[in-house]
Amino acid sequence: MTEHGLLIGGEWEHAAETIPTIDPSDGTVIARLARGTAADVDRAVTAAEAALSGAWGALPAFERGRILTRIGALILEHQDALTRIEAADVGKPLRQARADVIACARYFEFYGGAADKVMGDTIPFLDGYTVLTLREPHGVTGHIIPWNYPLQILGRSVAAALAMGNACVLKPAEDASLSALMVARLAIEAGLPPGALNVVTGLGEEAGAALARHPGVNHLSFTGSVEVGRLIQAAAALNTIPVTLELGGKSPQLVFADADLDAALPFVVNAVIQNAGQTCSAGSRLLVEDAIYDTFLARVAERFRALRAGPASRDLDLGPVVNAGQRERVERFLALARKDGLPILAEGTIEADVPSEGHYVRPTLIGDVPPDHPLAQEEVFGPVLSAIRVRDEEHALEVANGTPYGLVAGIWTRDGGRQFRLARRLKAGQVFINNYGAAGGVELPFGGVKASGHGREKGFEALLGFSTTKTVALRHG
Ligand code: ADP
Repeated sequence: MTEHGLLIGGEWEHAAETIPTIDPSDGTVIARLARGTAADVDRAVTAAEAALSGAWGALPAFERGRILTRIGALILEHQDALTRIEAADVGKPLRQARADVIACARYFEFYGGAADKVMGDTIPFLDGYTVLTLREPHGVTGHIIPWNYPLQILGRSVAAALAMGNACVLKPAEDASLSALMVARLAIEAGLPPGALNVVTGLGEEAGAALARHPGVNHLSFTGSVEVGRLIQAAAALNTIPVTLELGGKSPQLVFADADLDAALPFVVNAVIQNAGQTCSAGSRLLVEDAIYDTFLARVAERFRALRAGPASRDLDLGPVVNAGQRERVERFLALARKDGLPILAEGTIEADVPSEGHYVRPTLIGDVPPDHPLAQEEVFGPVLSAIRVRDEEHALEVANGTPYGLVAGIWTRDGGRQFRLARRLKAGQVFINNYGAAGGVELPFGGVKASGHGREKGFEALLGFSTTKTVALRHG
């Protein structure tokens, strides 16, 4: 069995201890990961600092961009292997895993192209002065990423940070680190100088916590749970460094009677079953206008009954969830729905012959869910859709905004005035009108408000987050 090491300063190192990584489709151990320690994190930060004052820091922006573009090309070249790895490690159906590989390559291409196009300003000022701004890297950036979209989240965060000239220390999730390790190998092959990207695998409370509190880190970006996000922000506060947090949501889709319901239907279903619902921006609440509630829900229910869950390699609608804890979490929510008498409108099926050690849950449609019920307020992180009947536009808005979260929202209506009224008043970082997710949208700024976090990743805007402004004022008389 492959035993993976740590990448520090361009060298792969063996760790004293390892942890198993498991295929959630059948429960088998597929590899062992290095269990990085605080001392490993410390050496990784030192290696990143050395890269900044060495070969990496000296590269002109366009050369950084070239390397990133090459990494993107290598990812595409190895897309079959990466697809298999991501499917086995996370439990994603193959098509979804492949889409993630391609999105990861797109981030490296996008930020490769952008690396030499971020410019400062010259600012009109007093007579006798010339004032300009320089955009500079933060320095060492720490990246703590989750297991649900390892490739995509690595891409959006590490590629943007490298484009701006930062040196990264990456802590992938203990449940799914294999694709990150492979991308790191491809990055070296593409000519990324030693220490520009360091990878310390291991446990959150060990390697993750050590990275979050390390005084040599100048910026932290974190995607994961609200609880851990708060710990990361608290650790960042002690070192007074900026932090980007993306912490999930309870995102609504608002469907009005005048909408193109044929168009809405597949988006409504896919938004909550993609990646078995383990998506920060999952559309997990369905708000439907009273006049069409029963007829539209009947159509959604029909789709749910046709959904099939099974091993990632069978490439069905959904795979397993990532681990036993995640399965128990989803089952707890479903038990609560039953205990509270919420109508279960439809369930999909789990293939009859799935391995007993796999972590499968049935896609489930529930409604009408009271807006203050935990099924309408809390993130399930599973293929569970909570439908809520709303009276009109104003009621829909009130319910949509009535959770602690604010990541994304979808609006389905043909009424142009309503589209923009709602787009402005919805509390969310992204609003989709007559679509949902914009096919991933590498180019589109992404992030939340309220408990969903702060700061923006993706698009050009991420480059501003991964850099800082230096103002230079020259008095020449
Ligand atoms: P999820 O609920 O999606 O598993 P977590 O927030 O637990 O998300 O984990 C996301 C990432 O944060 C993972 O890489 C994990 O190892 C890391 N992590 C977990 N706990 C901590 C911690 N106390 N400090 C720093 N990182 C942590």
